[in-house]
Amino acid sequence: MTPFQYSRAISIDDAIRLHGTVGAKCLAGGTNLVDLMREAIERPTSLVDVTGLSATIQESAGGGLIIGAAVRNSAVAEDPVVRMRYPALARAILAGASAQIRNMATVGGNILQRTRCMYFYDQDGSRCNKRTPGQGCDALEGFNRMHAILGSSPSCVATHPSDMCVALAMLDAIVHVKGIRGERTIPLTELHFLPGNNPEVETQLAYDELIVAIELPALSFAQQSTYVKVRDRASYAFALVSVAAAADVQDDKFKDVRLALGGVAHKPWRAFKAESLLRGETATVELIRAAAEAELADAKPLRDNAFKIELAKRTIASVLSQLLNSKQ
Ligand SMILES: Cc1cc2nc3c(=O)[nH]c(=O)nc-3n(C[C@H](O)[C@H](O)[C@H](O)COP(=O)(O)OP(=O)(O)OC[C@H]3O[C@@H](n4cnc5c(N)ncnc54)[C@H](O)[C@@H]3O)c2cc1C
Repeated sequence: MTPFQYSRAISIDDAIRLHGTVGAKCLAGGTNLVDLMREAIERPTSLVDVTGLSATIQESAGGGLIIGAAVRNSAVAEDPVVRMRYPALARAILAGASAQIRNMATVGGNILQRTRCMYFYDQDGSRCNKRTPGQGCDALEGFNRMHAILGSSPSCVATHPSDMCVALAMLDAIVHVKGIRGERTIPLTELHFLPGNNPEVETQLAYDELIVAIELPALSFAQQSTYVKVRDRASYAFALVSVAAAADVQDDKFKDVRLALGGVAHKPWRAFKAESLLRGETATVELIRAAAEAELADAKPLRDNAFKIELAKRTIASVLSQLLNSKQ
């Protein structure tokens, strides 16, 4: 491991000051960053411990919730208000990792965790444009069962691994960030980039910006939301495909609906096309299938993952049916 300095921030401004230097990185739960440092994929020269900052869950001015970046994943999933008003978020977190990891992992770290593409981790044996820009991508022609089917590029077919982020994308979460030049907010759906020609640039955060909190807007029908993760093992496995959804069903119609997919793209994938076909329409099996078909119409499978296209369509149908049945 490359030698590094360690400091513990005592306030957000202190963290910004310490973090705004070349080679510095935030250290939260460390469950992803420390692994990457051990593999010499990440080589920060300075770590700024942010676990003492912004660890509360509070009501926002608009009636939603503000969740501090340092709140542990398990604390979010166990929070009674989150469970009642945003059940998809609690379910998504509980579908991820293990209890021990969720107890360590934080909201900020979960959002900024890096891909689990095995070629990204295989420093000595594989080419990876995300790890070494311009090197090439061995996943393209390699073992790519877990990889992306939507929004990928010839440079990178990695997926974003977070379950929590899929629920946040569906819930229109807003990321509050702060850096040397001040504060700003970014919709979670716009925080992460698709890979394009520069897969090493993963988010629109500037080098000095920290995530301070996540805001969940008030959304009455988020109470009718859920998250389903399809994976190879019942626990401790990343998603092949996952779906987060919320539906406001009245008189058998989708008055409103939110839908996002995980395990399919370089970022949490908000299913805007499917939503627009469903919104205002009578909820039938045929309509749901057509919406799922439309969302997956541009999918580009690799050698080993064509199955994800049908799996995603069926998981969308299953999740929306669950929400419809729970209304009856
Ligand atoms: C065995 C294993 C299985 C797993 N399975 C799953 C799974 O099924 N589903 C899933 O979703 N996840 C899974 N994970 C990933 C896990 O959820 C992440 O490792 C965790 O959420 C990262 O959070 P952390 O606080 O430990 O982040 P860290 O490792 O501390 O940091 C991760 C990144 O975020 C940055 N960062 C942290 N906080 C901030 C902040 N406030 N502002 C700016 N940057 C910040 C760090 O600099 C670093 O780049 C698994 C991990 C392991 C090890």
